[in-house]
Amino acid sequence: MGIDPKATLLRLIGEAEQRYGQREAFELTTVTVEEGRKWAQTLVNSANRTIEVRVSVFVNDRDPQTIYQLAHEAVHCLFPVQRLDTIYIEEGLAIRHALDAAKNLDRNYPAKCLVALRACP
Ligand SMILES: [Zn+2]
Repeated sequence: MGIDPKATLLRLIGEAEQRYGQREAFELTTVTVEEGRKWAQTLVNSANRTIEVRVSVFVNDRDPQTIYQLAHEAVHCLFPVQRLDTIYIEEGLAIRHALDAAKNLDRNYPAKCLVALRACP
């Protein structure tokens, strides 16, 4: 993989803060990138005020989809809640941020996504 997941996520959180406001003070402990995970996830521990982010990678072209997932999860890191469901408006903001932020990180991102999509069954 060509990116540092935690550094990339912190950068994406910073961009999300510029867009949506300063985040709550939770410590980002780990960013796990696993092959074969079925979904990305932000796990919150309200007692310790920590968050852990897990994203998946795909065999064909890892970075574009990993960046997209990190950008999406960056929005979930702004105002973390310790529950697995989420509100629709937050999902919408996360998707918007993922589309824009990933494109800013890699100018070839849209083209890479098309290649990755074509490779999916
Ligand atoms: Zn989400």
